[in-house]
Amino acid sequence: MPEAGDISADEFRHAGHQLIDWIADYWEHPERYPVLSRARPGEIARALPASAPEEPETLDTILRDFEQIIVPGVTHWNHPGFLAYFAVTGSAPGVLGELLSAALNVNAMLWRTSPAATELEEVTLDWLRQLLNLPGTFSGVIYDTASISSMVAMAAAREAASPGVKTRGLAGAPPMRVYCSDQAHSSIEKAAITLGIGREGTRTIPSDAEYRMQPARLREAIERDIAAGDRPIFVAATVGTTATTSVDPVPEIADVCEEFGLWLHVDGAYGGTAAVIPEMRWVWEGVGRADSIVVNPHKWLFTPIDCSAFFSRRLDVVRAAFSLVPDYLRTSESDVHNYMDYGVQLGRRFRALKLWFVLRAYGREGIVDRLREHIRLAHELEGWIQATPNWEVAAPVPFSTVCFRYNPPGVDEETVNAVNLAIIDCVNNTGEVFISGTRLRGKEVIRLAIGHIRTTEEHVHRAWDLLQQAARAVNAG
Ligand SMILES: *Cc1c(COP(=O)(O)O)cnc(C)c1O
Repeated sequence: MPEAGDISADEFRHAGHQLIDWIADYWEHPERYPVLSRARPGEIARALPASAPEEPETLDTILRDFEQIIVPGVTHWNHPGFLAYFAVTGSAPGVLGELLSAALNVNAMLWRTSPAATELEEVTLDWLRQLLNLPGTFSGVIYDTASISSMVAMAAAREAASPGVKTRGLAGAPPMRVYCSDQAHSSIEKAAITLGIGREGTRTIPSDAEYRMQPARLREAIERDIAAGDRPIFVAATVGTTATTSVDPVPEIADVCEEFGLWLHVDGAYGGTAAVIPEMRWVWEGVGRADSIVVNPHKWLFTPIDCSAFFSRRLDVVRAAFSLVPDYLRTSESDVHNYMDYGVQLGRRFRALKLWFVLRAYGREGIVDRLREHIRLAHELEGWIQATPNWEVAAPVPFSTVCFRYNPPGVDEETVNAVNLAIIDCVNNTGEVFISGTRLRGKEVIRLAIGHIRTTEEHVHRAWDLLQQAARAVNAG
């Protein structure tokens, strides 16, 4: 039996080398796995023992079970045929950075609990800020997800609108109101739920024919709320909405926010990344006037999940909203960031390390080339769809995501919806690619998002072939 609870350096080396080999093979031959797991509900859990082992087990045994039980239950997000939701990449440099961060296992709650973790976070986020062409007035914090970044933004807005809300709570004040379009991500509403503003306090502004927020309707909603004695505090604009990747008119929304003194948060979780490409800089138009911005390197910037970059011109307000230093965490350093002051959680992973690896290993040019290629592929697909009878593109394609549908003539809307859902299932059952769908104003559409670093024209072409085959099969059946 091994020493109690310990793994010798040799055992670690052996298992570690095996594991790196496994990962390299995995990435080299993704076609051996169906992208979408074929597991049925409960199947994985049933294959596992009901309790943890009494006796130590060897790493070899654990790795064997990983391959035999866990892998079949994995949906392969790191597969180039993954074209659903927003495709993401755990790239090789990102994975190596993640491995080191696990090995160091620092908790970056205070500057002194790991100065390098705090300072690398500052520097890496400033690199990212420059790559994304954001003004130097913005500085950043890394959170786990865009959902948390947006919640932090809303909490800061709440503090800015009502200083001391942290102490008093919400009681006795007029109800606060927040605004986003009907295309905004559900995380905005969840932030409102979390912060005591509630779903009813979240005003959903109608979007236009191209799924962009209508600033005139935003203004009306704010004026209506003010007339009713409510307290508007926050607007979330989206650059790259989740369903269609539409871009809200940030300059006009910023005008409204400035007029009424509201916090403007820009959710660019996916689309914001495109601003690294010179010809895509337009996506950030007006964004310098935002109070805060979120971009997810774990979405379209090849960084393993989780890593969400939050930028604000008013980090002092974020700090005011959250800072609460118990006696046992007081430190003597001044002029340092203690990142625990900028959010709810105390403990923080060393996430900057993997982002630093990614930014260095690809460089600006490497990132631009890959994102540009993803956008080119999306436009290729858009062209194939437009050139094919009975198929139509369902929304503009500003980035690397295409919404489209099969729409044969003389078929009622309900049947078209059912047919498109059946096509998605049929394509996903092949295991070669994985696509998803969404509903746009009552219409079921197919949604294909290109974002994996190894997705090539071949994968997109194959997906398009499978879609057309599925349409024929569904029609014939
Ligand atoms: C994906 C997405 C989110 C949520 O991101 P998480 O990091 O998973 O919380 C928020 N907003 C937009 C626009 C998104 O596309």
